Amino acid sequence: MQTSVLDLIQLYRIDQNKPVFKAGLGFFLFFYRYLGNLDTFSINAILKLEVLMERKVLLVVDVQNDFCPDGALAVKGGDKVVPVLNRYIELFKRAGLPVIATRDWHPAKTVHFKAYGGTWPPHCVQGTKGSEFHPDLKLPPDTIVMSKGTSPDEDSYSGFDGRDDKGRALLQVLKEKGIGHIYIGGLATDYCVLQTALDAAKNGIGITVLTDAVKGVDLNIGDSERAMKRMKAAGALETTIARIEGELKGGGYGSSEDKKRRA
Ligand SMILES: [Zn+2]
Repeated sequence: MQTSVLDLIQLYRIDQNKPVFKAGLGFFLFFYRYLGNLDTFSINAILKLEVLMERKVLLVVDVQNDFCPDGALAVKGGDKVVPVLNRYIELFKRAGLPVIATRDWHPAKTVHFKAYGGTWPPHCVQGTKGSEFHPDLKLPPDTIVMSKGTSPDEDSYSGFDGRDDKGRALLQVLKEKGIGHIYIGGLATDYCVLQTALDAAKNGIGITVLTDAVKGVDLNIGDSERAMKRMKAAGALETTIARIEGELKGGGYGSSEDKKRRA
């Protein structure tokens, strides 16, 4: 796990979403797990503490046909995130953790589109093929779908602007499920992933960016790179599927060995 002083400051930030007792519990778990084998004592272990303390969710951002090759607003290599996201989905399912998917869900006429004063060609128009999730994306049947950009006068990018089929906003869903940390992947790094991550940080929710499961538009060269920097500056951590699967194999948090140890 890549880290920085900023991540550590973020880690120890105690606010209304991370009450003191939770931190106490975290330290108890930490010593319980690591006192016996201090050789694994490392920054990684400390960072895991935060993840231990918070319930997690996998947030799949806008993996829709129109953002994939041949789509109306294709992100170059956008479909490459699909097989990687499927592996994350499998991990979260096994851990009994929820999966949330956001989607652009525009009316045919909206200020979001160039013809009506916006920036973009028409894309992800409600009910069209282009608005569907990529056919190879294996979302679990109980995935919570958040639709955004649904009204004609709205230009929304953040998943936090979206609503599910019960009319709940993303923040409300996260609160109801007791989720304090989002693992985020999808499209596009420099728009909807970025804005969603920044909104999460603003609301005191932890973020890990799945760097192997995001792709950017890069309308201006370097946009994706700058987006990653902004997310990290807001406290986001980074990981990859190889790193998580490696940790699980190595007896890390969530492995069968670890569960035995915690039982
Ligand atoms: Zn859009």
